[in-house]
Amino acid sequence: KESRAMKFQRQHMDPDGPSNNSNYCNQMMRRRLMTEGRCKPVNTFVHEPLVDVQAVCLQGNITCKNGQPNCHKSSSSMKITDCRVTSGSKYPNCDYRTSQKKRHIIVACEGNPYVPVHFDA
Ligand code: ADP
Repeated sequence: KESRAMKFQRQHMDPDGPSNNSNYCNQMMRRRLMTEGRCKPVNTFVHEPLVDVQAVCLQGNITCKNGQPNCHKSSSSMKITDCRVTSGSKYPNCDYRTSQKKRHIIVACEGNPYVPVHFDA
């Protein structure tokens, strides 16, 4: 079974990306299996080395959106792509808007080793 840490990597890690095109989210959301059963409405990919994203678990500790205490905010801004399903998108044809940004990211971490399991913001 896929661990939560592996699921985080599948859903949120793309260190070598993005291919600079407006179809990025349409391709990646399908390739990373987030369009099975439904179109996952919102998802972020991070374009930084895995070790740098894992290191965020050792950075500033903050409260998550759901009230849990296990979130961490990156001390540097990171290259990301936000994917958001369009209003006209109809499953199984999941259609996404692709927006590239540089932001401080917030992840929830769990376990030993203490690694990212959820992308909070
Ligand atoms: P994501 O939230 O990264 O888009 P999922 O919702 O598929 O992806 O998975 C998040 C996983 O992280 C769940 O297994 C959830 O139980 C776990 N988790 C651990 N800590 C938190 C937290 N503080 N907030 C939300 N989910 C968390």
